[in-house]
Amino acid sequence: MELKKYIRDVVDFPNKGIIFKDITPLLNNSEAMQTASDELFNLIPNFKVDKVVGMESRGFFFGPLLAARLTAGFIPVRKPGKLPCEVVSEAYALEYGTDTLEIHADSIKKGDKVLIHDDVLATGGTASAVCKMVERLGGEIVQCNFLIELDFLQGKNQLKGYNIASLLHF
Ligand code: AMP
Repeated sequence: MELKKYIRDVVDFPNKGIIFKDITPLLNNSEAMQTASDELFNLIPNFKVDKVVGMESRGFFFGPLLAARLTAGFIPVRKPGKLPCEVVSEAYALEYGTDTLEIHADSIKKGDKVLIHDDVLATGGTASAVCKMVERLGGEIVQCNFLIELDFLQGKNQLKGYNIASLLHF
């Protein structure tokens, strides 16, 4: 199945000059969604994963599905002020702007094997910030897993030393 057919390019969204990769057509097709879920799971080598960390908000689509199949917990990373308990936070640069992300301080135990998942790896700022937070909490990152990688933005350079696996490359 050609999953790229289900990724829609939206020009100048949310800002001029950005080609936004819209994954809602993929989510809206059950076969595409199932195939993407299977293929994302198949990118993960046979290692132990305790927790899957997914980024707000599009990391919440496939992150919990992967966690369930890995028999791991799912941990949401959220925008500031959304998580109710004690958090650690990290500022980061986006392809379009800057922001801060937060994770619950008690969500990861020292030595937990953590898989990071998001829909798109663009410049790598988001994933790099999440890796820092996870490591501050004592987690060991086993893979950074993405549905889409925008190769031309070279986000991999921000994630040197980590295993990176992306299903679709543009
Ligand atoms: P970055 O920090 O630059 O790697 O950006 C990654 C985050 O921004 C992900 O959570 C994506 O959902 C979102 N993102 C960045 N660029 C795009 C894009 N061109 N299309 C869709 N989402 C994007």
